[in-house]
This record gives sequence, structure tokens and C-alpha cells, in this order.
Amino acid sequence: MQAFPESLFAESDGFAQSSNQRSTRRSTRAQRPRLAPDDVTRIFAEEYRNLRPRAPMPEMEIRFRAFVSLNTTIRLREAKIYVSLSDLLEGAQESVLRAIAHILLAKLYRKPIDKTHNLRYKRFQYSDAVARQTEHIRSTRGAKRWLGPEGRYYNLDEVFDSLNERFFHNLLGRPSLTWSEHYAKRLLGHYDAAHNTIVISKVFDRPSSPRYAIEYLLYHEMLHLKHPVKVHGTRRCVHGADFRADEKLFPQLAAATAFLKRL
Ligand SMILES: [Zn+2]
Repeated sequence: MQAFPESLFAESDGFAQSSNQRSTRRSTRAQRPRLAPDDVTRIFAEEYRNLRPRAPMPEMEIRFRAFVSLNTTIRLREAKIYVSLSDLLEGAQESVLRAIAHILLAKLYRKPIDKTHNLRYKRFQYSDAVARQTEHIRSTRGAKRWLGPEGRYYNLDEVFDSLNERFFHNLLGRPSLTWSEHYAKRLLGHYDAAHNTIVISKVFDRPSSPRYAIEYLLYHEMLHLKHPVKVHGTRRCVHGADFRADEKLFPQLAAATAFLKRL
């Protein structure tokens, strides 16, 4: 449950620069014509029109973000829509981008999410290319050794995926997840930004740990991915109002915090 340096969440580069920087990684990807930035904007405009046939078309700013921030987010500020897409989506097919455009816009305007789009995006998320690329990102992130997500009793990858589905519409990119090497009782969970890794104390990998306690710890760290640290002057806001509001959505919040206190 720790903060991480906000510098890692600096604004990422735009389209032009990013294609240079990451050309080596992209070359390992399946050969497929990439969509131009205009196409991406067009797709979002069309999906907006489908959802809201008569509403005025807002201005949209859509960008791909570097892999430290795998999240895909949408915000509406002063009638302008800001979208940031994980760069894993940069080489995706039009149908996948259309699906993500629909999901984001539906979420923003609280409309029901179309099942076909949802399924298409999910298939993409778990497709080979994405899995391989995520693996590649992990392996190039330094030589730090981790125990990995598979504990004796709980698998953190599985817990993450279920939380992502229940609370985040599968919109969070999965960072590396690992059990801590030691039975830490003070630092129960934290996000290691340098390795894009969430570490959960091994103390919880036992049958007497209720699943909701692990879910709560992971959910808390996932909220840190969703709400990057904001800086107000010199003060860093780690658990801001949005963060706290989201945290209250966790159904067994009271039981989980009570369990953690008894450790
Ligand atoms: Zn925290």
C-alpha cells in the first residue's frame, strides 16, 4: 500500500514519436496494417454517434500511452473527451478498436455495453499476440526475481482477472503480479512502478486467509493503477477523493479491513 514516483506516469508521447521509440518491439508483432490516428478518431466518432444519435459531437483527444501505464481510460472535461489507450492496442484491428471505443463511451455515458463488442475486446486481451507482448514487456523490465503469481493456495493472476472483470470492465492492463518473498506483516501490498509489478505479502497465501482480504489488497493496488498520483503544488495526493470513492465500492470493505487489523 505504497506510493510510487509520479514521474513514471508522465504524459506519454503522441503517435509520431512512439512509433520510433518502440519500433523494435513492434517488429515482433504480427504484420498488420496499422490504423492511422485519423482512423482511430473516426472510429470513436462513429461509436459515439451509435450510442448518442442526437447529442452534439464533442471534441476528442485520443492518444496511446507507453507501456508503464497499461490502463485504458476515458475522461470528460469541459465537453471534451480525453481517451488514453494502452499501446498494446496500437496494432489492433479496427474491430477491436471499435469494441474498445464502444466500451469506453458506453461506460462514460452509463449506457449498457454491447455483448459482441465486449466479447471481441476480451478475445483480443487474451489473444496470443497480446500475451506474448506482455511477457516481453515483463522480461525486459529488469532482473529482479519474484516468486510469481502462483502461490500455494491463491493465484494472483486469477484474482486480478476476476477483479478486473467485476470492477474495471477489463480495462486495466495486468501488470506483473507476485507474492512477496518474505512473510511481511507491515507492507501488505504495494505497487513497484519500476518493474510494473504488484507485490502482495506471502502472509496471505494460506487457507486461513479469506479470499476477500486478498481481493481487497489487490483491488486497492489496482485503484492506484487507475488513479495515478496527482501533485498539488508540493503535496502528493496518493489516496484522493476519487480513489476513496472507488474503494468504497468494494463490497466486503469492512470485513477486509477488520481482517487486516487482526493480523
Ligand atoms: Zn495505497
